[in-house]
Amino acid sequence: MPQFGFSTQQVHGGVAEQREHGARVAPLHLSAGFVFDDFDQAQGRFAGEVDGYSYTRLGNPTTAATERRIALLEGGAEALLVGTGQAAVTVAVLALLQAGDHLVSMNSIYEGSRNLFVQNFGRLGITVSFVEDAGDLQQWADAIRPNTRLLFGETIPNPKNDLLDVARVAEVAHAHGLPLVVDNTLATPYLLRPIEYGADVVVHSASKFLAGHGTALGGAIVDAGTFDWAASERPSAALVERDALTGGPSFVERHGRRAFMAYARDVVAARLGPAPAPFNAFLIQQGIETLSLRVDRQSASALAVARWLETREEVESVDYAGLDSSPYAELARRTLPRGQGSVFAFTLRGGLPAARRFCEAAQLFSHMTHLGDVRSLILHPASTTHAHRTEQQLRDGGIGPGLLRLSIGVEDVADLVADLEHCFASLPQDAPALAVVS
Ligand SMILES: *Cc1c(COP(=O)(O)O)cnc(C)c1O
Repeated sequence: MPQFGFSTQQVHGGVAEQREHGARVAPLHLSAGFVFDDFDQAQGRFAGEVDGYSYTRLGNPTTAATERRIALLEGGAEALLVGTGQAAVTVAVLALLQAGDHLVSMNSIYEGSRNLFVQNFGRLGITVSFVEDAGDLQQWADAIRPNTRLLFGETIPNPKNDLLDVARVAEVAHAHGLPLVVDNTLATPYLLRPIEYGADVVVHSASKFLAGHGTALGGAIVDAGTFDWAASERPSAALVERDALTGGPSFVERHGRRAFMAYARDVVAARLGPAPAPFNAFLIQQGIETLSLRVDRQSASALAVARWLETREEVESVDYAGLDSSPYAELARRTLPRGQGSVFAFTLRGGLPAARRFCEAAQLFSHMTHLGDVRSLILHPASTTHAHRTEQQLRDGGIGPGLLRLSIGVEDVADLVADLEHCFASLPQDAPALAVVS
């Protein structure tokens, strides 16, 4: 469906090739395995020479329909759905790096990814360098070493909204023969398609905006299908070396520009086993059908709430890329014209005591960790998602004791503002005067 717009594709894209019994919605195939028609078909499926399904860890028609839809919406060649966003990051990186390899990441990525790189990959002999100022291209270039295998960034990092300039970082990556992997969870392909700006691989937590309903976890890896893995001057061993299992031709020799996805799917995901439940793949597919509608509403409401928060004297600052006051306003206007998403932070002058009261006073906002839900959410990062960080790291990251993260849902914006008014009213009236700003 080449010529249709985004909202048409999110509903019609990737539908099953065969429509069983005329079912209009892609059916849910809750089956661990799939019966072979005959001996030769079984052999052919195992050899990867005959299309079709054999076992749900390796592929499932419901999951495949969701994968086709996500690939289409991101403008990629192919997608792989896995059980969570963390699994998507894990599989993407482990398809390209092995012990002794190195990656360069922006510093403000999702804490779970950051901790995965440091704590888990560190134990596997994979090292990471974090770029402090992702807008400074020299820092990216300086961090690249002979054993670097990829650059990693996020389109809209949370909670500070310090946007990544995908096009410029992709240029640095490609100048060094490296792929750029971008986590596009908070922008969604409706607001920004990193592949159009030069990213080679896109990852998602489908648990967030793609699903939207907050009922299922999932993760996706999308391959642009354009990176020349064979020509890279810093090639990934798993793709260019002889196949470790068969001793035969490498993945690049067998699959060309599909080498990354073939290895990620058939070796990394198939063996480590983060297959999504088909039921969750089905739920994510249902969520995607309303993605543009939700993200339009959520972005507009987030902008309204952010502007209103800027007028409150109890608020020291608001970090939302959609505001003119944001250092990323110009980049946002250029690359996020449809909206700037619905996850952002604001800092209360009253510090930790004010933040505690504010969270506990919320009634319509749910006090929980999750993002991109149809319901509005509030969280205090310094004591939760970022609690393991040192005081210095928190200060460097701009995550003060009074900072609160919001994820704006699809509720009426007047009701959201009323709930926040009520939270402000719960603060001690002299809170601004008592401010202890670190
Ligand atoms: C939530 C999130 C993840 C991890 O996804 P899970 O589905 O929770 O495993 C990764 N990246 C970003 C940007 C996220 O918000």
